[in-house]
Amino acid sequence: MKRTLLLGVAVVLTSFVVVVAARSSIGKQDDGPRCESDDGTKGTWSHSQSDNQGGPNEWGELADGTGKVLYPDCAATTQQSPIAIPARTEVAKDAFALDNQHLKWLPAAPVKDVINNGHTWQANFAPGSKMLVDSKEYELVQVHFHSPSEHTLEGRSYPLEIHFVHVGPQGARPFASVVAVMAEEDAVDNPEFAKIWSSFNACPQKTPTAVSNVTLDLTKLLPEDRGYHRYDGSLTAPPCTASVRFHMLSHPIKVSAAQVKAFTRALGPTNRPIQPIVLGTEIEYATQN
Ligand SMILES: [Zn+2]
Repeated sequence: MKRTLLLGVAVVLTSFVVVVAARSSIGKQDDGPRCESDDGTKGTWSHSQSDNQGGPNEWGELADGTGKVLYPDCAATTQQSPIAIPARTEVAKDAFALDNQHLKWLPAAPVKDVINNGHTWQANFAPGSKMLVDSKEYELVQVHFHSPSEHTLEGRSYPLEIHFVHVGPQGARPFASVVAVMAEEDAVDNPEFAKIWSSFNACPQKTPTAVSNVTLDLTKLLPEDRGYHRYDGSLTAPPCTASVRFHMLSHPIKVSAAQVKAFTRALGPTNRPIQPIVLGTEIEYATQN
């Protein structure tokens, strides 16, 4: 009896903390935080699967007041992302290993700020972490998340997909390079994510929240086996710009179910549906060595 009462108090306290932590939250619902009415923070598009809500099926048709289509690339016939990564693909001849030679991430990458932009949680990095693509340096600018996963690996979806976004030099093709990692649920919090998870707002915000003295060892967010699939696709959210090279790790890492839940409570589903594979798109496999 006492134990039940204590547990009840703990639950009430936890709920209170969650509500207080949710800036601009005016209440708590089981389906997520109730945020102030949309002030334009989210923009015109969403991940909604319902009609006329600006969801993925409508991204390519959304227009401004003058009738100008906002995100024409979302309806483009060039390869869009995400895709269903097939089980067997050809082994790439020129593929590199995701080792220290090519993934030059700082051992302690400083997080500059974090934002809930209404579509995802995103952590922006201070400069210094890079990736070599076609012998060119691409700068790691941010990491963000999708739940459920956007890609599927050999037919399997995951509770979370992590995108490390690198931007190439002016005029480079591909213009961006993404290292994508799947995460499956575990009982234990992922310690690297634990360093930033509580900094993210439950409600959308216009300007990022500055973060001080937080560094991430990003290699801890990669699986031991760094085999990956590679293909050229697009941004998975508007403006859906093409010429994004994906390096999709073949093995997942682990995050806690509670960490995934905190993210989905704040944002709901954040995945673009699988896009058709365009004839001629090469999906190649690279082993870890
Ligand atoms: Zn993404």
